[in-house]
Amino acid sequence: MFSSATELLQKRDIGDDIRCAVKFVRSGSLNTFTASGDGIIDSTQEEDDVFNESEHIKWVDSTSLTPGYLGRVSAIGTKNIIMTINGNSKTLAHEIGHTRGLMHDENNQDPSLNNRASHRIMYHYLSTNNTLNQSDYIGYK
Ligand SMILES: [Zn+2]
Repeated sequence: MFSSATELLQKRDIGDDIRCAVKFVRSGSLNTFTASGDGIIDSTQEEDDVFNESEHIKWVDSTSLTPGYLGRVSAIGTKNIIMTINGNSKTLAHEIGHTRGLMHDENNQDPSLNNRASHRIMYHYLSTNNTLNQSDYIGYK
């Protein structure tokens, strides 16, 4: 998963995509937690409980809080990710972007990005491409 996420940022997709020479690697051990006993987050309290687990990335089966939710950070700029098992390497790269302070592209005020936002790795839905603009590049570095 980490190597696939790395490849997404390192390869050039289309147009003005910027290649970013970062490498995601897991450090530390894998643990299990019991905050959400059935693996399904179905209340904001359960989500908070999972976010309060000490590991940076928490994997759960699913969540019923937001349909289509594949991953989430507790707050932009925090190293606190929840990933669902339906999330993939693109989801992981996107959520790591949030931990680095990156926002969704549709929030970016740069007017030159308006027609390309859906191609960006930081678009709020899974996109067909995984492009980075200059601010994404700076954030990931
Ligand atoms: Zn996002």
